[in-house]
Amino acid sequence: MELKRGTRVADEIIILPIGAADPALIEFLSLTVGQAFGRDVRAGWAAMAPDFAYDPVRRQVHSTMLIDRIEAMPHAGDPKVLGVTEADLFIPIFTFVFGEARLGGRAAVMSVARLRESHYGRDDDPRVLYRRAEKEALHELGHTFGLVHCLDYGCVMHFANTVEDVDIKGDGFCAKCERRLATRLNPRRSPG
Ligand SMILES: [Zn+2]
Ligand SMILES: [Zn+2]
Repeated sequence: MELKRGTRVADEIIILPIGAADPALIEFLSLTVGQAFGRDVRAGWAAMAPDFAYDPVRRQVHSTMLIDRIEAMPHAGDPKVLGVTEADLFIPIFTFVFGEARLGGRAAVMSVARLRESHYGRDDDPRVLYRRAEKEALHELGHTFGLVHCLDYGCVMHFANTVEDVDIKGDGFCAKCERRLATRLNPRRSPG
């Protein structure tokens, strides 16, 4: 998406494919994320391969290393960046993670690998994949806006340990998280 004239770059959200990505999914996420957060979203196509964070023993990619790399990238203004990868992600204390985010920070990453039905031996269903990917994107970006895990099962900030958890939880923010998010999205600025 093109930046509109006069748009404040600082408010952007960038969806950054890490390695090969499905352009249709990136486009879909750009639209849904833009609606949810009320911000301009653009897909960043700067080449970023996940190889440097690949762990050959675990055969997975260390998500924290991706986040560190994104945060170290030069960005105009102060955008939020969501990396999207097909690679299976991990952090050392977990077998896998659907994604990871820096709380109140710039960067988040999410993996599509375990959101696909084929990962569980079932036929792929794009609609199921997109619904899960939307929840995961909102969840991780929610963390970058300072939201923590929510006890409400209907809330997208509820922690998901399995893909069933992802399917059960809602695809929007509960009233409490919505209020908290509003204060982060529109911080009261002192004059001058
Ligand atoms: Zn989380
Ligand atoms: Zn909530």
